[in-house]
Amino acid sequence: MAIIDPAFWQSEEWQKLQAEALRIQPVCEVCGTAEDLVVRLGNMNFRRREAGLPLDSHFCRVICNSCLRERQMATLVRARQ
Ligand SMILES: [Zn+2]
Repeated sequence: MAIIDPAFWQSEEWQKLQAEALRIQPVCEVCGTAEDLVVRLGNMNFRRREAGLPLDSHFCRVICNSCLRERQMATLVRARQ
């Protein structure tokens, strides 16, 4: 997976991308809540970055913090098996 420059996460580009992603999808993609949302860059955008293509807010994923934690737990469990 492409390494994203840590400075990217502080950049105006990422701020804009998050705002756009939330406008496109204002709710959690898993449970549908509109609270406590986080925007993930998404695998497609990692690949686009790697290929030198511009990032696209349509490929961002919107998820709430509690679903994100659950998903991360599931990933940890899978990694241990
Ligand atoms: Zn959720």
